[in-house]
Parts: sequence; structure tokens; C-alpha cells
Amino acid sequence: MKMEELEYTVLDDGSLVKNVIIKNIRPCIATEGKVRVLMELDNPLEEVITSLISKYPPGKVNYVKKKKILTLSIYDRLVTLYPSGKVTMNKAIDKEDAVEIITNVMKTINQAYDDLESIQEDNKKIEDISPDISVVGPLDIYKCLPQTNCQECGEKTCMAFSMKILSGDKFLDDCLQLQEPWHQDQVECLKKTLGVEMMKIMGWEGY
Ligand code: SF4
Repeated sequence: MKMEELEYTVLDDGSLVKNVIIKNIRPCIATEGKVRVLMELDNPLEEVITSLISKYPPGKVNYVKKKKILTLSIYDRLVTLYPSGKVTMNKAIDKEDAVEIITNVMKTINQAYDDLESIQEDNKKIEDISPDISVVGPLDIYKCLPQTNCQECGEKTCMAFSMKILSGDKFLDDCLQLQEPWHQDQVECLKKTLGVEMMKIMGWEGY
């Protein structure tokens, strides 16, 4: 039996997307007890989809450039965004859970859209406001860490911590050493390597 579509207005003031329609809910084949939800946003994402890549830690993002399809591994769900505005979500608990998660993603979509508008107004390039994170590897982050292997972050080495930062499984704030005033040079190094916006996305609240 065909499911009745459910429309939600979740962001009254969204600059690009405000509404989401749940078109279909099916049991998740891979995870028992969870559901797979098909949704449609109220605007295409073609324009912003590449800008969204830099809004999440690299390890949380999988981008199929040829088809402009972006999959996010976030909140223990898989959220796939298509240029048309179609969205699929795996491992959701139910429709309310799917709406809550897509609302957070929609906030980020609107933020990416606002950034694009300001870039166009100021005649800047996207690289001017966010460095290309896809070229940043664990060694680049490691170079900026205190390199004491003190294990205060819960990892055995600073290198292990760097890898967890890139996969989105640790926050920069978990390195307590970095928060000491005598490690300001390391913070500046991270700022240069990742950019302030990506540092915030990676859990740095030191600003
Ligand atoms: S807390 Fe910081 S300095 Fe200590 S091991 Fe972790 S990353 Fe390295």
C-alpha cells in the first residue's frame, strides 16, 4: 500500500530549504529495528552540494563527484543528499527521528547557501573562506599537535588522535594540552591548516 506523504515545515526562515516531505518509510535491510526513509526537500541542492563537503569532518563524508551525490555518516545514520533535493536516510529510528536529523542537515545546507551568496557578493572564491580539507591528512594535523603522547585525550598517541579527528570520532577540544596558553602556536598552525570554520566543526570551542 502506498504511504501518504507527510510534509513538515521545519525552518521558517531557511534561505534555501524550509520544508521536507517524507515520501516513504521502509524497514532498514542492514539494521534490524531501524527504518530507511525517503525524503524530498523543497529546493534542489545542486548549487550547494559541493560546499556542504567542507561543513563536515572528512571522515564523515563520501562524495560521488560525477553524480554530485553526497553521503554523510552522521549521528550514527547514513544521510544521502541528491542534487534534485531527494534525501535518503538509513538507520533512522522512526519518522520523528528522521525529521529531527534532516532539520540539522537543512540548517547546514542553508548556512552553505548563505556562505555562497556572501562569496558571490564579495567576489571571493570558496577557497578564500574554507581551505580544501580533502587534501589534509593525519600527518598535517599531527604536525600542529603538542606531540607529547600524554594520552589525556584517551588516545595512545597524538598520531592516533589526528586520525580520529579526521574520521570525526574525536573533538579537537579533547586534547586538553591544546587549550594551554603555551600551545598557542599549535592552535595557530591548526587554524592555518584547517581554517576556523572546520576547527569549529571538529569540535574546537577555543574562540
Ligand atoms: S591530549 Fe593532545 S598532546 Fe596528549 S596525546 Fe592527546 S593529542 Fe597528544
